[in-house]
Amino acid sequence: RWARHDRRGPELFDPDRAAAERRRHRLAAEMPAALDRGEFVLHYQPLVRLADGVMIGVEALARWNRPGAPGPQQFIGVAERTGLIRRLGRVLLEQACRRGAAADRELLISVNLSPVQLAGPGLVADVADILHRTGLPAARLQLEITETAEALPYRAVLTALGDLGVRLALDDFGTGYSSLAVLTGLPFTEAKLAAEFLAGAGHGGVLRHVIEACHTMGMTVTAEGIETAEQANVLRELGCDHGQGYHVGRPAPW
Ligand code: C2E
Ligand code: MG
Ligand code: MG
Ligand code: MG
Repeated sequence: RWARHDRRGPELFDPDRAAAERRRHRLAAEMPAALDRGEFVLHYQPLVRLADGVMIGVEALARWNRPGAPGPQQFIGVAERTGLIRRLGRVLLEQACRRGAAADRELLISVNLSPVQLAGPGLVADVADILHRTGLPAARLQLEITETAEALPYRAVLTALGDLGVRLALDDFGTGYSSLAVLTGLPFTEAKLAAEFLAGAGHGGVLRHVIEACHTMGMTVTAEGIETAEQANVLRELGCDHGQGYHVGRPAPW
């Protein structure tokens, strides 16, 4: 294949990258109308207490309800780049809160927030408004914020969300950026340990110490991606509070 020469000098033309870029543009163009048509829905995955297996809540996970549609990693990423995530995020949050308020049990409803939503204006007012309109008690809403470099500087927003009475979970903990020290003074009520982190930590002492440190900081700990009974047993013995994963239950419509 020939290098393509442009003003910046020789550069390999990568057909795969170009195709992916076209696909993202097409998705970006299609998403607003799909949102208006109600094609974005939530599936719910059970959260259990590891001590006794009792279901204590659900995590709401976005799905694009259309044949051949991409998964959330891809369409949430596109929505973040176009800014549609603000409207999409509000619609999904309201869906989740409405569903939770209608449930016959007092389940915790855990909803993912994008750093773009955290950075934008009006998030705290939107959350307060949605709680008010749906009637879900604030204490039954948990907002999950992924551990990224950008997410943590928003101390003021996180504090204001915490002041509403909602719970805040640090998602995918252990995959990236935050040291335990960064978390000091942030109002997280829960750390969600990423499956990758659990795999890397083995059965050993590191995991026990991380769980203990989270407890010392006043956080409960959820293990994500539990796929076997063996994993669930090990985590329970290490003092992990909650669990989630295919072994416990897959995301499903509710
Ligand atoms: P996440 O919040 O860490 O969600 C957990 C992901 O792990 C989900 O993938 C879930 O289906 C998957 N999972 C659950 N149990 C297991 C298991 O036992 N094994 C394995 N291998 N995977 C398991 P999903 O639904 O594809 O979501 C991927 C990511 O997309 C989420 O990661 C979250 O970061 C993002 N996302 C999903 N829905 C939303 C949303 O409504 N808003 C925002 N901002 N992000 C969302
Ligand atoms: Mg999550
Ligand atoms: Mg996670
Ligand atoms: Mg994730």
